[in-house]
Amino acid sequence: MHSPQAWHRAADDIDTDEPEDSPPATAGTPLAQLYRRLLAAYGHQDWWPADSRDEMLIGAILTQNTAWSNVERGITALRTAGLLALERIAEIPEDELAELIRPTGYYRQKARRLQGFARLVAAEHGDVDGMEALPTAMLRAWLLEVPGIGPETADSMLCYGFSRPVFVVDAYTIRIFGRRGLTAATARYHEIQQLVHCDLTPSTAVCNEYHALLVRLAKECCRARTPLCDNCPAAAGCRHGRSPVPAASPSLHVASG
Ligand code: SF4
Repeated sequence: MHSPQAWHRAADDIDTDEPEDSPPATAGTPLAQLYRRLLAAYGHQDWWPADSRDEMLIGAILTQNTAWSNVERGITALRTAGLLALERIAEIPEDELAELIRPTGYYRQKARRLQGFARLVAAEHGDVDGMEALPTAMLRAWLLEVPGIGPETADSMLCYGFSRPVFVVDAYTIRIFGRRGLTAATARYHEIQQLVHCDLTPSTAVCNEYHALLVRLAKECCRARTPLCDNCPAAAGCRHGRSPVPAASPSLHVASG
């Protein structure tokens, strides 16, 4: 995901560039080293690609179980129809919404989830701006009560929609951390998230950037079946990269949502 118009560029607010006297990539914990190596190799990723908070939140639901290119088609259809706003989505017939987001897959289920979310926001907060005042823990708890919103979607919304210092865990994170020996294959979502939160005491900017960098690494090098370790900018410090064991790569799964 990349766009010159990323919504809430937290990295603009907090400097995540490497200062000239920054510690070398080998300093700090393995998580910090990985972050620095990826940032040095790939630079800022400018997430989340959206022109407004509503668009970001809508995209967070549409991206469940599908590629981002499909989400873009759904977003474009909503924009063209003048419906790229939660208050508009709350009002239209569900069938109409489903047809517009058909390219994103599971479109009837997503239409139901999206409209349910939009209506709950309107009923309980007025609009998304009305959610800003909630402390992060309360906001996360509220989001997790919404049907169809699980930890990954909720944390994406918190980090990229509400600029909260919350690290998003997804299947890419689990794969990369597992191969590098940072987490066990059996580690649960909140355990991985806690590891990052405790290890880095991250800012919103670091959470924003780290997740985006991991997604890029997974897509370009740390692929599911055959990781391209020779091309990996973070091969140093990786167990799997030093001694690839393709057949033993654990089957990792994290519930979508
Ligand atoms: S060295 Fe290989 S296994 Fe390790 S993070 Fe890079 S691509 Fe993935």
